[in-house]
Amino acid sequence: MKVISSINGMQNWSKQMRCKGKTIGFVPMMGYLHEGHLSLLRKAREENDYLVMSIFVNPTQFGPKEDLGRYPRDFGRDKKLAKLCGVDVIFYPEAKKMYPAPYKTYVEVEDLSDVLCGKSRPGHFRGVTTVVLKLFNIVLPNTAYFGWKDAQQAIIINKMVKDLNLPIKIKTLPIAREENGLALSSRNTYLKEDQRRQAIILDKALQVAVGMIQSGYKDPRRIVAKMRKMIKSQKTGRIDYVEIVDMNTLKPVKKIKGRLLICLAVFFGKTRLIDNAIICA
Ligand code: AMP
Repeated sequence: MKVISSINGMQNWSKQMRCKGKTIGFVPMMGYLHEGHLSLLRKAREENDYLVMSIFVNPTQFGPKEDLGRYPRDFGRDKKLAKLCGVDVIFYPEAKKMYPAPYKTYVEVEDLSDVLCGKSRPGHFRGVTTVVLKLFNIVLPNTAYFGWKDAQQAIIINKMVKDLNLPIKIKTLPIAREENGLALSSRNTYLKEDQRRQAIILDKALQVAVGMIQSGYKDPRRIVAKMRKMIKSQKTGRIDYVEIVDMNTLKPVKKIKGRLLICLAVFFGKTRLIDNAIICA
């Protein structure tokens, strides 16, 4: 397994492999790997000749008051796990090489980027789409893998790929959870023990919403109200949003019908957790 930090070095490696007719699977990450990340690596390993993973804590997707500085990092551990998953190359660039001053070019997917998480994290998705497009241009993958854990991100990236005619296939894989239902996230390491216990309510609330839809509830307001009540029953949870939206537009639906995303963001202390469920009604 190679670690490549230089942008030219990465691009040249990928060009050589593509010239030989080999396929490249790519999994972009911020690091501090957990089982959710590993599930993406395993799938990408199965489906491609070569597997590239990037580790880059992308500064442009963090707001000025967010956790860029304290985001958990452990490159040594990530490297060992990557090797076990059969990664061929870790692309590990420096921020100043990815954004040489004066950096001026950003990509933005309109409308989808300023709802849900985009509303509470202005500029976040502009940072995400910009770095993902840059990474695509550097790694030159055939297929890139993302998790449904970040459903809005996956939907926005799919839209960017479609709108900009990028010759890359996007695959989105299911959310990996702890046995108790808590969605795995690098940010779970911030949680104190009682917060971690209380955060289990997020998956429970999503399951209740899915159950209500399956048993015929049609009014999203009743379902959201039930979810909010469940989350509020936990002392430390502070709701950012709980919504049921259309999978294509990310706009709240007035009636339960079609392919829907039930999604939420909740603070436990300073830690903001997101989770979601997809359902066809
Ligand atoms: P991150 O390093 O947190 O930006 O995540 C890198 C990739 O892993 C993204 O595509 C995430 O959606 C995905 N991911 C993160 N957590 C999970 C999870 N619990 N299950 C599945 N995929 C995940």
